[in-house]
Amino acid sequence: MTFFITFFLLFAILELQNFINIRKSTFLKEEEGVKYWFRDSKYVNARARKSVIFGKNIFIYKRYDERVIAHEKAHLEQINFPYLILLISSLGISISFITMDPIPVVLSIFCTIALSQHYERDADLKAYKGKSMFPFSSNRPTRLRRIIGWLDMHPPTWIRDSDEYYDKRNNLFSLFINDILRS
Ligand SMILES: [Zn+2]
Repeated sequence: MTFFITFFLLFAILELQNFINIRKSTFLKEEEGVKYWFRDSKYVNARARKSVIFGKNIFIYKRYDERVIAHEKAHLEQINFPYLILLISSLGISISFITMDPIPVVLSIFCTIALSQHYERDADLKAYKGKSMFPFSSNRPTRLRRIIGWLDMHPPTWIRDSDEYYDKRNNLFSLFINDILRS
């Protein structure tokens, strides 16, 4: 029961976010079943959202950037992993709530990070086909900052900008281990 309530609440928050995003955006076009929306912003970015209620959407922030859109289009071809994350979070939260043990929640957070980074890299590989398309000139920071950098929904920028990242033979976990062990 706790699980269903948690899942429904998180689901409602996500879909409310989608609704608000659509309300605040200007409709641009619909192409191949994807609706494109424009949102005013300081930074160039885009966000893909697949929803059982609102369908496939891409929100464009500030201006259209071919490279960014290629990545977002790849997300729309993947399974709807934000829903999968809702499922895992609801499980973690409800088990922790019932057992009063924080470990399930912590585990679900790590699962969410790993899952999200997996699909982000998958989108990068599909969008850029083996070569880095990111204009970052990112220097590797100190080890502590690198560890913190990996606790994100995307792989860190200095990794996303490296050649090894775009080589399918290197899995994300080994990239992580090598990054942390290297001085
Ligand atoms: Zn992405």
